[in-house]
This record gives sequence, C-alpha cells and structure tokens, in this order.
Amino acid sequence: MSALPKEGMIPKRLARLRDLASNLWWTWQPDAQRLFQRLDPVLWEEVRHNPVALLRRIERIRLNAAAQSPVYLELYDRILAEFDRAVAGETWFERSFPEHAGTTIAYFSTEFGIHEAFPAYAGGLGVLAGDSLKEASDLGLPMVGIGLLYQHGYFTQRITEDGWQEALYEDLDLENLPLARVTGPDGQPLQVEVSIAGRLVRAQIWRLQIGRIPLYLLDTALPENLPTDRELSARLYDGDPERRIAQEMILGIGGVRALRALGIRPGVWHLNEGHSAFSILERLREHIAEGLPFEEAAAWVRETTVFTTHTPVPAGHDRFSLTLIEKAFAGYWEQLKLSFEEFCELARQDEPWGPTFNMTALALRFSNHRNAVSELHGRVTRRMWAHLWPDRAVEEVPIRHITNGVHIGTWLARRMRALYQRYLGPDWMERVDDPALWERVLEIPDEELWAVRRHLKRKLVAFMRERARRRWQRNHVPPIQIVASGVLLDPYALTIGFARRFALYKRAYLLFRDPDRLRRLVNDPHRPVQIILAGKAHPADEPAKRMIQEIYRLIKDPSFGGRIVFIEDYDMEVARYLVQGVDVWLNTPRRPLEASGTSGQKAALNGVLNLSVLDGWWREGYNGANGWAIGEDRDYEDPEAQDVADAASLYELLENAVVPLYYDVETDGIPHRWLRMVKESIRSLAPFFNTRRMMKEYLHEMYLPAMEAARRRTAIPREPVL
Ligand SMILES: *Cc1c(COP(=O)(O)O)cnc(C)c1O
Repeated sequence: MSALPKEGMIPKRLARLRDLASNLWWTWQPDAQRLFQRLDPVLWEEVRHNPVALLRRIERIRLNAAAQSPVYLELYDRILAEFDRAVAGETWFERSFPEHAGTTIAYFSTEFGIHEAFPAYAGGLGVLAGDSLKEASDLGLPMVGIGLLYQHGYFTQRITEDGWQEALYEDLDLENLPLARVTGPDGQPLQVEVSIAGRLVRAQIWRLQIGRIPLYLLDTALPENLPTDRELSARLYDGDPERRIAQEMILGIGGVRALRALGIRPGVWHLNEGHSAFSILERLREHIAEGLPFEEAAAWVRETTVFTTHTPVPAGHDRFSLTLIEKAFAGYWEQLKLSFEEFCELARQDEPWGPTFNMTALALRFSNHRNAVSELHGRVTRRMWAHLWPDRAVEEVPIRHITNGVHIGTWLARRMRALYQRYLGPDWMERVDDPALWERVLEIPDEELWAVRRHLKRKLVAFMRERARRRWQRNHVPPIQIVASGVLLDPYALTIGFARRFALYKRAYLLFRDPDRLRRLVNDPHRPVQIILAGKAHPADEPAKRMIQEIYRLIKDPSFGGRIVFIEDYDMEVARYLVQGVDVWLNTPRRPLEASGTSGQKAALNGVLNLSVLDGWWREGYNGANGWAIGEDRDYEDPEAQDVADAASLYELLENAVVPLYYDVETDGIPHRWLRMVKESIRSLAPFFNTRRMMKEYLHEMYLPAMEAARRRTAIPREPVL
C-alpha cells in the first residue's frame, strides 16, 4: 500500500519519479539508483536505498533544486527513456517467438529475493527466484510470479556478546513498499478463498512490479479471517506443520485461484521447489470439474508443468503426515473423484516411520519437465528419486539439470560495469551469454582493473565501519563486538569472504579446525590475511547457532588481531558489498549437499576469485586456472575423513597458493599474476553462470515444449472453472 506522495507534492518536471519508485526495475539499474541518491545522498542511506521512503520524506526544497538542475534533468530524461523502453518496448522474446505471444508462464515460489527493502527471502532459493523474474523482464518472457506476502518477512539477526544468534521479527513496512492491492472490476479488493481444515480462509492479492513482470502476493491478514488464519502468512518457513501446510495451501491452491480471479490463464506452470505443489491438485480439480477423466486431466497438467528441485538432502523435502493431510484437506479429494487413499497415493513417499505426503514426489509425478540445479545435483537427484521410475536405470530417470546463474545487473558493481562497458563494448549487456564477448576481458589493462578492485575493497571496509558505528551509537554494544564487526580491517590486506546460511553442511567451521595454523596465517606481518563471515542460522537450528557461537568466540580472541570478523544480518545488501569487495570467495560445503550455490558466481563477475569445494556450480566452472579447488572431485563415505582431507587442502592452498599469489606484487605495485587469474575467472565463468544463459535454457528445454503442449490442448475452446 505504497503511500507515495501525491502528484502535486513533486515538481511537475520530475513527476515520473513516482513511476520509477513504483517499479522495482531500479533495483538493477545503478543509474536509476543514482537518480534517487542525488536528490539527497544522506537520506538515501538513511532509508536504506528505498525510493518510496525517500520520496515520502524528502524536503520539497531539494526536489525543487533538482528540477532546476540541467545535469539532473539530463540524467532524469535519459533514465526515464530507458525505463520506458525496458517496460514497454519490443522484447527479445516477442521478436524470437511471435507464435507464443499471449502465453503466460506462472512462476510459483515461496520466497522471492528482490531487494533488501523487501525481506521475503531466506537465502539462495529466494534470490534465484528474484533474479529469474528480473531476467524474465530483461528478455521479455511473459511471466508472472506468485508468492506470499509475509507480514514479518524473514528475521533480522543480532549476535549477543557471547555469540548467540537472536532473531528479531519486524513488521513489513507496507507504506514504504510499492505494493498495490489488486482490485476487481467493482473496485473492491480482489479476494480468493481456500478451505483449510473445513474453514474458509480468505486471502487478498498484492502486486509488486519487477520491470515488466508482475509479482502477485497472497496475504491472509484480513479482519474476516480468524486471528490464527490472519497469521498464516506472517513468517517465512514456519516450523509448525499445521501452519506450514496451511501456508502451502494458500500458495498452491490460492495461487491458482488468484490467477483465475485476475483473468490469467497460464500456458506454463513453473514450480520453484515443492512448496507450491498443491497447485497441481487444484489444476486437476479444475479439469475434473470440466468433465475430464482423471488420467486426461493428469496428462494435461503434466504437459504444462515445470518443476525445479533444489534440495539434495532427503530431509529437506517438504512432507506431511497423512493425518494432517486428511485434516487440512477435509474432503477435497472428493472433488478429484478420488478416495482419500487414492489421493494420498498421488504424493506418497514411504519413510521408515510410515507413509508421508511428499511435495517433491507430487511435483515429480505431475510434471513432464523436471530439473535439478547443477550437473552433480542432477545426478544425486536422479538417484534419490529413481524409485518413482522403477522400470528405468538411474541414468535414465527423466530429471535433467539446468545450472543456476545470477542476474548480472543486480550483482555487478557500478565501477565494474563501467569497465565492461568500456572494454566489452556498448552493447555488452545484450550479449552477456556470448563467450566471445568475454574474451575481451583480457584486454582490460591491469592498472585499471586493479584500481577498480581496490576501490571496491575500500568501499566494503567503509560500509562495515559505518554499520559498526551505527550499532555502537544506537545499541551500546560492548567494544569487543565493535571489533568483531570489522573496524580493525585493513582495506588493502588480502580479504577472504565466507557468507551463506549457517547450516552445518556448509561447514563454516572447516577454516577453524586448526586455530594455531589459522592464527599464523592471519597475523603474518608481511602478508596479513583477513576473513569476513556472515550468515544466518535458521532460528530452530540449534547446532547451527552453536556453530556461530563457537566461531564468534574465536573471533573475539585478541590473538587474531581483529582480522576475523562477523557481519550481522546477512542480506542482499551485505551480500552485494561482500561479493564485490573481497578478494577471495570461500565455500566449503560437504559435497554433494550444495545443490548449486550462486554467491561465488556473483563474486566471479566482480573480479573475485573462488576458493571452493568441487560441489554444485563450481564443479562445472573450475578449469584449473580460474580459481582454486579444495579437495578432490570425489565422494566420501565418512564425513570426518572428508573434513580432515578438505581442511588440510584448504590450509595448504591458502598458505602455498592464494597468499603468495596475492602478495606477488611487481615494482609498479600491481599483482599482475593475480590479475591474470582474475581475468581468466571472469572470461571463463561470466558467460555461463548468469541468468541470461539460464533462462534461455529454461525457455528452450522446458517452457517452449510446455507452451507447444498447451497450444495443442487449447485448440479445443473451453471455459475456465473457478
Ligand atoms: C546469493 C545469496 C545467497 C545464495 O548464495 P549461496 O552461494 O547459495 O550461499 C544467499 N543469501 C543471500 C543474501 C544472497 O545474496
């Protein structure tokens, strides 16, 4: 319910700042951000880069001054022209596939990471969904996103003096978000209803515009609902199974009904992870209500459904007890003309403790277009779900892989962008998936690349100091916590970043296995090393919280000299500063548990080198000359043996390869051999590990076949049933 200032409050000449603020297109346009920043740089920082908040609070006198400034107006006119082209001009998709004009791809996800001002994501899954919508906008894919509006979003992380993670839930700042409540033809807010455990739960629909792509978000905080139901969409990843199943019914069933209420008839349904798989049941119900026999309804649903699985850990797949299904669905199966037992068979997965209703099993059985998110993850996934295809060999299990990528406009530092603009050519953003384009990175002079890298390192350190200062002033934390948050960092020392969710399998502790060796490494007076950590543990994950605590204890130990630090509250803003400002991006997952990972891709794009276990995307990206591989390309039976081997490899690489290379500076003060590796990293990784390549793969391998199927089906005219 964005309360943007009324038209008259902004000078006429700048009236369209409201349009820009209302569309999250600016989140991947550094020049559009600059347009807001220039109005009032101090306020821009204070409102944490939120244009709606900026326009609400800015003094009129500053707007008037901007409206008088020829330099400002020139930027304004240029950005608005670009904006209009980006949201209304002809698109790559329209030019390439005119026969599919008018199709819609519905993209369901339980999280969307679009910008730090909108905390509707917990980690990589959400950031991937956000990056996908942005890329869909750039390419002009006819997509709409469907998700939930979380009134408290994901939590804000605080670390206490003794290293314990505290989770604070803040109310979503509705007034300062460009959310529009969707209304029907009668001007009343559009609502959908879902029957959950025999009671009707209502949800309203909000729209958030991401360039060309609308994102529709369902919200149950309505006075008509029971108080407990109002809270259904309060938090991301509720631990309580009853609330969780209700949430997923709102997302899946309510999501389909919302699209119908909006008059949208998708030709393709993409389920990003299993949380939204109840949408399959609702679509079956629609077809059956139209009179189709079950098998035909199922065939139709399968042909038009795309499913992406992200979880190589069996326990990470959403599943519910049959008792809970019976209670929550309360007779819904009759509308599918099934008995309760037959209904459960649709998603049945037997566990040692009995049968369960498994969301991944449901999605795999009712989608013909299925993928994992890296080559190795594809292999693990085919093995994990081979029992669903008992007649096939494991290699023949019909789940392919499409390796994740990152949205370049979102993650690339402004200065790096300018460098690419100069050396890759003015149209480089149009061709980011062309390997030939990136060959030109080799032509960037070392001095220029090094100057940008040093600038980004200084920016990171300044950012951390400012955060520490605010924390010191506002919260009166003990001085040791200020040291731990990075005030003693040296902007020019070799800096290693490690930021990700704190789950045990990510093994943040690996680096700390031998504290003495680590101490020698960071304290070398000639070649100091500093390490920046960040990441949240799931609030219910006690072992992960204890891991943070143990690491924090070492961080506070004066013998490390304040060179190992922890930034609280990892979010997309912190991620941006880190992936742009460190020298080395460290990743130590217990292989093969990192499905893909994307933060190392963001780092590579910005000239940061990867030092990582050969898991997920890095197993495909590493070529021997573009970074470092920890351990070998192999699996282990014994996790302790794996830890021992990987820790040894990590320390050796740091001591003998990474540190010497960084400090191998020639007489001109520039580490040319380091920069050669940086260029090789950009050249070999950037063209592949981006969302342009990724979304084109989704289009060709998944969406187009589904669109063809939908076209064949809808050749027979029919009416949708609500
Ligand atoms: C990119 C990103 C992630 C995902 O990165 P991984 O490599 O999977 O850890 C998680 N959280 C935030 C805030 C990110 O920006």
